[in-house]
Amino acid sequence: MRHFDYQNGAMFAEDVPLSRIADEVGTPVYVYSTATFTRHYQVFAESFSDIDALIAYSVKANSNIAVLATLARLGAGADVVSGGELKRALIAGIPARKIVFSGVGKTRIEMQDALRAGIHVFNVESLAELYVLNDVALEMGKTAPVAFRVNPDVTAGGHAKISTGKKENKFGVAWSQAEKTYAEAATLPGIEIVGVDVHIGSQISDLAPFEAAITKVGGLIKRLRAAGHKITSFDIGGGLGIPYGNNAATPPPPSEYAALVKRLTADMDVEMIFEPGRMIAGNSGVLLSEVLYVKRGEDRDFLIIDAAMNDLLRPALYDAYHDIEPVRQGNLDKMETYDVVGPICESGDTFTKGREMAKLESGDLIVLHSAGAYGAAQASQYNTRPLVPEVLVNGDTYAVIRARPSVEDILKTESMPDWLTKDENVTDI
Ligand SMILES: *Cc1c(COP(=O)(O)O)cnc(C)c1O
Repeated sequence: MRHFDYQNGAMFAEDVPLSRIADEVGTPVYVYSTATFTRHYQVFAESFSDIDALIAYSVKANSNIAVLATLARLGAGADVVSGGELKRALIAGIPARKIVFSGVGKTRIEMQDALRAGIHVFNVESLAELYVLNDVALEMGKTAPVAFRVNPDVTAGGHAKISTGKKENKFGVAWSQAEKTYAEAATLPGIEIVGVDVHIGSQISDLAPFEAAITKVGGLIKRLRAAGHKITSFDIGGGLGIPYGNNAATPPPPSEYAALVKRLTADMDVEMIFEPGRMIAGNSGVLLSEVLYVKRGEDRDFLIIDAAMNDLLRPALYDAYHDIEPVRQGNLDKMETYDVVGPICESGDTFTKGREMAKLESGDLIVLHSAGAYGAAQASQYNTRPLVPEVLVNGDTYAVIRARPSVEDILKTESMPDWLTKDENVTDI
């Protein structure tokens, strides 16, 4: 069931017309569906309800505290990659014991905050980081629960920029150094080894790379146990892809992914940890935007919309595809072909080229689908465009969960040094 769909020719988010949100909040704006977040989380969680599993939602996909609170109430844990994300997860009501901390460059302060909170596990990516974590833990009179993120050297992920499990990537402990690294960790009094972690990439559309990684890690777990390490958890990261509506490979449904994972890990006697991000959030949100101008070019027509690459970076960063539909259902007898672009002074500010869609005019509203993950979370204020707001729909009501700042709000964070304020041509902000 689609929660962004037409009712009598106009697109709704659940039971709220998108045109109402555009009128009341303005555009561009992200609109999320509580029902979709709930369904995606539950489909995933239920497919693992018969095993010992922690679903640690990857906060970086969509980190709004209202989104996190929605998932927290369904029982989700969190995978965080910064002290800021840790704070968000805790504020949203995700218990520390369900939080895992990933990332290649944790700082001492972030380690202290996570140790103080009492998180489930640190996913450590290098010996250098391990020594610092040991040091911080000892200073605080604590021991840090640790899994090493190992790099299984498998190819996965829909784009070079979202492949993370190859040996040339910056992520994880090199496969050939894994056992040595565990042996070293076992000598450190501030460290308690608890598990193994991998995350091989994102937007993965077939099961083969998961199978390869799980099989390799299964062998590693046996060798680590034989060497005397206590391995109680196996975190296989996130990465399961979602359909974006184009004809690219359709990812397997969570049920098939779950069947594979359960078959391969049945004898491992571990707690399984999952870090899904895109799979939960991707199709739970759209970016709602207004057509500013239709520019008739020499050999192509441009649809200039009020959303731009600063609001949704994925097409510019990963050549990503997003389905685009009009909010008022179009006349399919009047098709046109457009390059859909934003107002930013970069050629990369292009959402799609040569896309056929029903004829649109200035003032029409459109949605870019599948924008709930890596959309608002990656937004910036480039070109002094205020940070795009976010709205969460729940049935027939909605709430603004991140307000659009004014230009004054943006300028308030900047200041003039004294040697510039004396100039009579400089106005006070
Ligand atoms: C980004 C990331 C995830 C989430 O990936 P998805 O493709 O969104 O599921 C999980 N774990 C780690 C360590 C990540 O960096």
